[in-house]
Amino acid sequence: MILIDGKKIAAELREELKKEVSELKTKHNTVPGLTVILVGEDPASKIYVKNKEKFAKEVGMNSEALRYPADLEEKTLLNKIEELNKDNNVSGILVQLPLPKHIDKRKVIETIDHRKDVDGFHPMNVGNLSSGYDSSIPCTPLGCSLLLKKVEKNLSGKHAVVIGRSNLNGKPMTQLLLKENCTVTITHSKTKDLKAECLRADIIIAAVGIPELVKGDWVKKGAIVIDVGINKTEKGIVGDVAFDEVSKVAGALTPVPGGVGPMTIACLLSNTVECFKKTQSK
Ligand code: NAP
Repeated sequence: MILIDGKKIAAELREELKKEVSELKTKHNTVPGLTVILVGEDPASKIYVKNKEKFAKEVGMNSEALRYPADLEEKTLLNKIEELNKDNNVSGILVQLPLPKHIDKRKVIETIDHRKDVDGFHPMNVGNLSSGYDSSIPCTPLGCSLLLKKVEKNLSGKHAVVIGRSNLNGKPMTQLLLKENCTVTITHSKTKDLKAECLRADIIIAAVGIPELVKGDWVKKGAIVIDVGINKTEKGIVGDVAFDEVSKVAGALTPVPGGVGPMTIACLLSNTVECFKKTQSK
């Protein structure tokens, strides 16, 4: 069984980005800039934002985190985004989710200039991705797709089962697999026989949020299994896949932690570089 080392692959990607940022600096006399906005005190979000800032700086980008109290007025946030949209030093804007309840997430996402939408959540990017056009791609599915390509270059004709249909993970993942010519089954909480669906899969992407849902006897021998889940349990952080059981049958598997997680931030940096290149080439 191949243990897919997301930590190592993400570090390699960041190293490549560091070189690219340095070349872009020579060419344009400026570097990509990422602005992350955090509203409120959610502990997990605070850690994510700190890491995003740290890794962006590490690859040589400009990076700033704007932190606001939880009672920030929606209008103030929207005005700030408009300001960042016009700022030539800002290549990418990310508003950390979840937002406090009084702020309309949809309005916030739609206010971000789609050319600076490093999360790939703007309807323009969602539409472009589903039409097979160039777009920003949500970071976690992009990371999953890079991990998959590390173990299997040609995914054409493979049967992929995606568990979960969120806008963040399941849906964009499905689009990326279709782009690779996979036959895709997308499953969710109303799926009748998830085990039977999984047993048909050459590739399983589990993005559910239920600890160790996917069992060893759900997986076809040799299948590639990508575990997106991050679940806090009494025994620590576990994925959506029962790692010990599944590692006995799978051909390749991502661990949790150390699989998909590290790829998400590396892909955010990669998206920021792509947004920068697009604005510079205009
Ligand atoms: P989400 O928005 O809660 O979506 C979960 C999906 O799973 C929904 O589509 C839901 O179906 C489906 N589902 C729930 N119970 C199910 C069941 N018993 N059988 C089949 N499908 C079921 O979650 P998310 O934001 O996509 O996140 C999923 C997991 O990924 C979480 O553990 C999260 O922490 C993790 N995550 C990891 C990263 C990373 O960087 N590694 C990034 C983001 C998220 P319905 O649509 O029918 O409700």
